[in-house]
Amino acid sequence: MGISAVEKLFTVFNETAQILQEELSCTYLDALAETGENLFQDTVLQEELSEITVKRLRKKYKEINLEKYSNEEIRKAYQLSILKGMKENVQPNHQMTPDAVGMLFGYLVSKFIKAPSFKLLDPAVGTGNLLTTVLNMQPNKTIEATGIDIDDLLIRLAYVNANLQSHPIQLFNQDSLQPLFVEPQDAVICDLPVGYYPDDDRAAEYELKAKSGHSYAHHLFIEQSTRYLKPGGYMFLLIPNGLFESDQASQLHDFIKEYLVIQGVLQLPLSMFKNKNASKSIFIIQKKGDDVKPPKQVLLAELPTLSNAAAVDKIFRKIEAWINENK
Ligand code: SAM
Repeated sequence: MGISAVEKLFTVFNETAQILQEELSCTYLDALAETGENLFQDTVLQEELSEITVKRLRKKYKEINLEKYSNEEIRKAYQLSILKGMKENVQPNHQMTPDAVGMLFGYLVSKFIKAPSFKLLDPAVGTGNLLTTVLNMQPNKTIEATGIDIDDLLIRLAYVNANLQSHPIQLFNQDSLQPLFVEPQDAVICDLPVGYYPDDDRAAEYELKAKSGHSYAHHLFIEQSTRYLKPGGYMFLLIPNGLFESDQASQLHDFIKEYLVIQGVLQLPLSMFKNKNASKSIFIIQKKGDDVKPPKQVLLAELPTLSNAAAVDKIFRKIEAWINENK
């Protein structure tokens, strides 16, 4: 068996990132963003490199022609490189959304949003892995996508990721809980950052601020996403299973009741997580609007391990039947 397209791409991303890491004395992830930008611009942009290094890089870049690869091949190879870089330099808040979750989000977006063109926002875009997975699963749709992240390295990786896959995503490097420069959206997807939000002054502008002490960033993200959704727009969120068990859960309940309609909660298989406390669900909610009706029954399901094809098929049929009845 020959090496796969993904392996071949990964090898070039990885080897050229290593060269740049050494020559520029930077981290692997910084070097990965640099090499991705070189590949996209089809040149070597770093002026401080020796002639020999430039030659070595050019030789490796020549081994691949990006146009010959699908977006998914590029995304997967880039994802492998990012995972390698993240292992080297572990930051708990930087975790990329796993593929299985991205695929489910992509599937749900394709089923819930039928319009041929729409606006899609990820306010915690990170490396762009989740957002581009979702985009790659909406063929024949025109999507105006926006991604925001507070972390400048991650947003650089997202920018390169988008370029390599030829997705015209608008990216902003800012705190998503500050005012945003985006128009009302048809849908929001988000692997929510979970934890306390340190800026109490900013949090004071939210209904979901804590009565005392720091507010939960994940609650404020839900409120902020609601603000930027059109009436009838959808939110697909990866949430911790304990979301409605915290000390501030009743506030969140009231907020949802007032502005949103719960459509579904899909629990991910526990086997995907290190322990039960880390387990998550996909929460599907819709912003209230004139034509928005609550579903006859909220879509509730425990998703099977994705390797169990028969069980996955059964659940997908259940979801499709629910959508046919409710949408
Ligand atoms: N979906 C992303 C991906 O595929 O790479 C990963 C999302 S990660 C779980 C959560 C992200 O939220 C991190 O990238 C983190 O930098 C970002 N974040 C945390 N607080 C934020 C804030 N206040 N504003 C914007 N981004 C924030």
